[in-house]
Amino acid sequence: MGGTKISGALSDLDGNLIYKHTIPTNVHEGELSILARIIEVIDKVIVGSKIKIDQIMSIGIGSPGTLNVKTGVIIAANNLPFKNFPLIEAIKQRFDLPIFLDNDANVATIGEHILGAGKGTQNMLYITVSTGIGGGAIINGNIFRGNTDNALGIGHTTIDIDGRKCKCGNNGCIEAYSSGTAIAKLANEAINRGENTSLNNYNVVTAKEVVREAENGDGVAKRVLDFSLGHLGIYIANLIKIFDPEMIVVGGGVSMAGEIIFSKINEVIKENCLEEIVSQCKIIPSKLGRDAGIVGAVALAISKSN
Ligand SMILES: [Zn+2]
Repeated sequence: MGGTKISGALSDLDGNLIYKHTIPTNVHEGELSILARIIEVIDKVIVGSKIKIDQIMSIGIGSPGTLNVKTGVIIAANNLPFKNFPLIEAIKQRFDLPIFLDNDANVATIGEHILGAGKGTQNMLYITVSTGIGGGAIINGNIFRGNTDNALGIGHTTIDIDGRKCKCGNNGCIEAYSSGTAIAKLANEAINRGENTSLNNYNVVTAKEVVREAENGDGVAKRVLDFSLGHLGIYIANLIKIFDPEMIVVGGGVSMAGEIIFSKINEVIKENCLEEIVSQCKIIPSKLGRDAGIVGAVALAISKSN
């Protein structure tokens, strides 16, 4: 579930999605209404897939925000109105099944590890670059959650202590440089300075337009993208030095731009890491793409049920 939509699916134990259903979150309606909509999605996928409830093993849920995974409580989330909300307990009143909750980046990480690009790896990182930046780590074959289950909250780690203001209130978070939102913001700053760029031809400039015009050869769009991806490359190089993983899977909307993104990231990483280490680490796009959240939630449920 996210700030815009709630998606649900019923899958078999191999991760094949049998029936999928998506509805808007309608954040403004408040937490109880969102709970009702989550239950509605679960109901719809059960009915739609024509599977009897006693054949269903468990429910997995991916949520943004700070969570208590053990108690199933959403402590707080930027894009959702939940505050200390006992989500698992509330859903259990309607569906008496094992229910597992984890943050959206962790479920996507588990999804890529069990069913996606990272199948078979022992040490793998997942990074999502979209509106924000998030991540997860598989260490020795298992998801690494940390002491309070909130490890790898990488979007708000600092890369420049005197750097760009971030929406979290701190300066210099990687999210303020390399997220889709940051790419759009940097481009709009250039437009507002009156720079000569083909981005002036658009009414609204998002990361998508910046990528398109960079591919068309526009100097300003290229400079913005190089700046953002340069910082992302350095960040991933840092992660490689810290974790020494065999694979880094990059997902989220920005990564879907493909070659222009990966060639720059790879170039920066090669310049910044030891050849012996970087030659053993693959940087590859997400295999689950837009389904990363939903397949991740399925993978969470499968990983807990085995
Ligand atoms: Zn921040």
